Amino acid sequence: MVDGRPRYHLADCTHLMGRATEGLPVAEAVELGFSPCGLCRPVDRLVAAAAQR
Ligand SMILES: [Zn+2]
Repeated sequence: MVDGRPRYHLADCTHLMGRATEGLPVAEAVELGFSPCGLCRPVDRLVAAAAQR
């Protein structure tokens, strides 16, 4: 997640290169009104991770 940007990313998203990031639970980011990045698709990744359980 990037400070001051209303979008959250996966930790390995190329959008985050060279930027200071801050870890935040996705549920919290969604609660704050953040939207998922269209490039790294955090939602897709989370759904896939949940499906593996
Ligand atoms: Zn991203």
